[in-house]
Amino acid sequence: MSISQELYKELILEHSQNPSHCPNKCGHLSNPTVVQEGVNRSCGDEVELEILIEGDKISSIRVESRGCSISLASGSMMADAVEGMSIREARHLIERFKAMIITGEALNLLEFEKLGEIREKLGELEVLEDLEAFRGVHKYPIRVKCATLVWSTLEQALNQSKIKETYRYEKT
Ligand SMILES: [Zn+2]
Repeated sequence: MSISQELYKELILEHSQNPSHCPNKCGHLSNPTVVQEGVNRSCGDEVELEILIEGDKISSIRVESRGCSISLASGSMMADAVEGMSIREARHLIERFKAMIITGEALNLLEFEKLGEIREKLGELEVLEDLEAFRGVHKYPIRVKCATLVWSTLEQALNQSKIKETYRYEKT
């Protein structure tokens, strides 16, 4: 096993044992714009997202996960990455993350720098780099849904009409 694979394994373990943005630790959102549940029946993973949209941004997110360590870690790192992002950028990241999990291709962080909306801070790029920890999952098709569940659930949440209404309302 290469050094980076070991670091990635450690990162996934860390996040699964101490997930960020979980309501047990941070409290539930008092006025989420949308609440969305997701289930991965093949493994038994469950997730509930609470999202507050302000303007065109995901200003707060909570992730309540039950399931295997890959699903817990994916939820934790997803929340770290998308909190503060614009809806447009989050959609782009969902697409890139899913492509990485299915094909094993890199996230291509340069693209995010080009989007240039909030990526200027180095700390935020590190959060994105951490997501590459899941790149090896494509070799284990049975675990793909464990890694993508929370991202698909986020996508469903962003597709809800409530969010589109908020977004439109704030824009005009
Ligand atoms: Zn799982």
